[in-house]
Amino acid sequence: MRDTDLLQLALGLTPPWQIVASRFDVAARRLDMDVAFPKGARFACPACGASDCPAYGTTEMTWRHLNFFQHEAYLHARVPRVTCKTCGVKRVAVPWAREGSGFTLLFEALVMAMMAVMPVAAAARLVREHGTRLWRILHHYVEDARRRADHAAVTRVAFDETAARRGHDYVSLFVDLDGPRVLFVADGKDAATVEAFAADLAGHGGAAENVSEVCIDMSPAFIKGTAAHLPKAGITFDKFHAVKIINDAVDQVRRTELKTRPELKKSRYLWLKNKDNLSASQRDVLGGLSGLNLKTARAYQIRLAFQDFYAEPSREAAEVFLKKWYFWATHSRLAPVVDAARTIKRHWDGVLRWFDSKIANGLIEGINSLVQAAKAKARGYRSTRNLKAVIYMIAGKLDLRLPT
Ligand SMILES: [Zn+2]
Repeated sequence: MRDTDLLQLALGLTPPWQIVASRFDVAARRLDMDVAFPKGARFACPACGASDCPAYGTTEMTWRHLNFFQHEAYLHARVPRVTCKTCGVKRVAVPWAREGSGFTLLFEALVMAMMAVMPVAAAARLVREHGTRLWRILHHYVEDARRRADHAAVTRVAFDETAARRGHDYVSLFVDLDGPRVLFVADGKDAATVEAFAADLAGHGGAAENVSEVCIDMSPAFIKGTAAHLPKAGITFDKFHAVKIINDAVDQVRRTELKTRPELKKSRYLWLKNKDNLSASQRDVLGGLSGLNLKTARAYQIRLAFQDFYAEPSREAAEVFLKKWYFWATHSRLAPVVDAARTIKRHWDGVLRWFDSKIANGLIEGINSLVQAAKAKARGYRSTRNLKAVIYMIAGKLDLRLPT
């Protein structure tokens, strides 16, 4: 067997293509292979598939291939054009690469596998390529898979914003609670994001009218956007966001009271965390503070009661409970707690809807932390487009159809 035969087998070249020469440069750690077709060979038209088109006029092209051991490997070929009776003059499609790519399909599959687990810049360093060229590969496969994604069965959606490039720059994630998967990433965090989501859903075989449940925080933009663009959707306000509103009120009470009650110093964590997450000594300190006549301790009791609300057995029981809690909270004479209770009251239906829908945003929070971790590892992204592509790759459950 000649060495070129072995390479031909390894590359999976199909007729009329064959390896005609190879040059091995040990000093440059490089293997170059020339692929060619015999004179008079005929090719299929890349547009309509008509076979047996005569070839003429070639263009010299090069593709990077998988390393041959530690040596960078390149394919070279003169790629012909065909004249198709129907389509006219077209450049032939080669079996080892997609049109417009300077890499073989197998090389692309390798770097896609790398970029799924490491920052693009790290993959680029390992294969000694420019990051921009690898981003181009990533965008191609993600966009191609996104075009094919089927959202026809989507009925329950959660959405929330996440920090994008700089602290004040946001994208909003729309998540299929039954996937679970990221369906859509929108620029910004305003009502228009919901409109963009509804349009994207329609573009993937879904329908805004089929969305029956959404889970969101109490952002007026999301509420408005849902009413306008997801007309059949009932809103559940995420319970962790609801509890956080009360928690923030407890913290405000503590910060004000700290000025006159120094024993509250360094106690912030104790009031905010669940008791189960405190150590025995932390619980002792909290118990001691709770015994003192502190406004913070009263606010804390109101927060604990609000959490118990979610353990009620039914929506009816929960509504009775919430009314009592509201009365207690609004008579507490603790201004931040009164404000928080009024906020809950204004969003009453969506808070109670949890007892029917049982949906929450925990899933989004999880996806969010994956995204933020990837972002930190990559030391940020040059563009929002890059960030979006990474989110789809990490959490979109896309069928990337990588060549094998
Ligand atoms: Zn054709």
